[in-house]
Amino acid sequence: MPASPCTSVSLTPIGRIESDYPDKFGVPRQPGLADAARARLVLTPPFDDPLAVRGLEAFSHLWVTFLFHLSPERWMPLVRPPRLGGNARIGVFASRSTHRPNRLGQSLVELEGIDTDAGVSLRLRSVDLVDGTPVLDIKPYLPWAEARPEARAGFAPEAPALLPVRLTPEAQATLAARPDTTSLRELIHQVLAQDPRPAYRRGAEDRIYGVRLRDVDVRFRAVVNDESKTLLEVIEIVVV
Ligand code: SAM
Repeated sequence: MPASPCTSVSLTPIGRIESDYPDKFGVPRQPGLADAARARLVLTPPFDDPLAVRGLEAFSHLWVTFLFHLSPERWMPLVRPPRLGGNARIGVFASRSTHRPNRLGQSLVELEGIDTDAGVSLRLRSVDLVDGTPVLDIKPYLPWAEARPEARAGFAPEAPALLPVRLTPEAQATLAARPDTTSLRELIHQVLAQDPRPAYRRGAEDRIYGVRLRDVDVRFRAVVNDESKTLLEVIEIVVV
């Protein structure tokens, strides 16, 4: 008798992400864009068995399959990628949008190490994942099979252009007083350089935005310099 078709599945997360990104806003739109971002994948029982990660330490990169748990369950056939200015619509399956059926995401991340002293947790870098993201699976990355530098990449043929970032003296003073001055400065620069502002608002230069990174709210605005170039200026850093 032929097997009956699979019409629905139920998945159990194997763990959850702890990351530098408490909110969706500001998280880089792909992994590898802010390597100052640190994260941990904490495996949950019964998947927190050290045997399950034996050999994984020999790989430098991993595919993480996860749930866009903060996105609505309702999906849309057409989406508006920020890379296309936020107005043009393309098919959801031609995009990396979070508004997709099953809300599955996939990120290639760097594996820095594995801790097995208390449960199992993986130290990751360069993630594009919000704190609390449920993880469904991990697999080692095989560059000989999966790296395709010659591939066509549709409407996103290259990494997005970076914006210059500067901090006011007040913001610099707040940063200097923290124990994580260097790493937080690097993270702020890398995240803001991606220009997290919504694509459709980029003309509104007088607006103040806030990005949550670790335990701080980084308040910034866009300014136009003497050479008519846009840059992002951090006005203040507020511990929340
Ligand atoms: N690399 C993954 C992919 O291609 O499937 C994610 C790409 S998606 C465009 C990246 C964005 O997802 C981030 O900028 C962030 O705003 C959002 N995001 C990250 N974690 C999320 C979560 N748990 N729930 C909903 N949105 C999330």
